[in-house]
Amino acid sequence: MTANHIATDAPPITISVQELTQFCDDYLSAGAFKDYAPNGLQVDGGRAVQRIITGVTACEALIDAAIAANADTIMVHHGYFWKGEPAPITGMKGRRIRKLMQHGISMIGYHLPLDAHPVVGNNAKLAEMLDMNITGALYPSESHPVGNISTCIPQNADSLIAQITKALGRTPLHISANYAHVNSNAITKGNDKLIERVGICTGGAQDMIEQAAVMGCDAFISGEISERTTHIARELGIDYFACGHHATERGGIQALGDIIAQQFGLPVTFIDIDNPA
Ligand SMILES: [Zn+2]
Repeated sequence: MTANHIATDAPPITISVQELTQFCDDYLSAGAFKDYAPNGLQVDGGRAVQRIITGVTACEALIDAAIAANADTIMVHHGYFWKGEPAPITGMKGRRIRKLMQHGISMIGYHLPLDAHPVVGNNAKLAEMLDMNITGALYPSESHPVGNISTCIPQNADSLIAQITKALGRTPLHISANYAHVNSNAITKGNDKLIERVGICTGGAQDMIEQAAVMGCDAFISGEISERTTHIARELGIDYFACGHHATERGGIQALGDIIAQQFGLPVTFIDIDNPA
């Protein structure tokens, strides 16, 4: 009998969706977070867990990919049931949940616990991907530190742009802190400012740039940018790098998937639904 036969004949590894959720709840200390959406099991597809798909957002394209892969469980960073959204399960929301239910697919979501975790969190993974050393938190707290402050080899903005582009596969939008000086010709070597101390908070954390300035960071890295962010960066003298909400939040769910694959021996596959925002 070949190894192939043994693998085919062996009963597949199966755990309950409750067991999987309990493990993740404990690992991420999910119960300790006040969040904008429920963390953990959001849709119970009613089947045992044998094949898991992970992704950033539980959009319809990810559900279609999970169906095509014959998966029974989807795990994401952005799930459903956000605070303030209409409760009825109709329209786009209805279509997504109906598809999950009809195909017996469970959906598990972790939001803030998956941003903040010191090992698999989005913020920790982004610092790691950029070869930076985490030295503290953007908002220090014993129970709930938010974001991180990291140090890198002193480099100018162009060099950091190149590093981010290589790590994330897309070029960040950079707002230089030296705008006013460049305009008045007061400083001719504006782009030679060295960046060493960097605030990091993934996703839609652009307004934390003010806290990064308070904490003495040379630059701040997040996902999104607002119109006001440009002026804040210029006036507070801190470089800003908008690297994409989606692009900066791919690390956490993939790292959690690796932990689950290790713990339970289940196949876990990350599917990247392209998103330029
Ligand atoms: Zn997010």
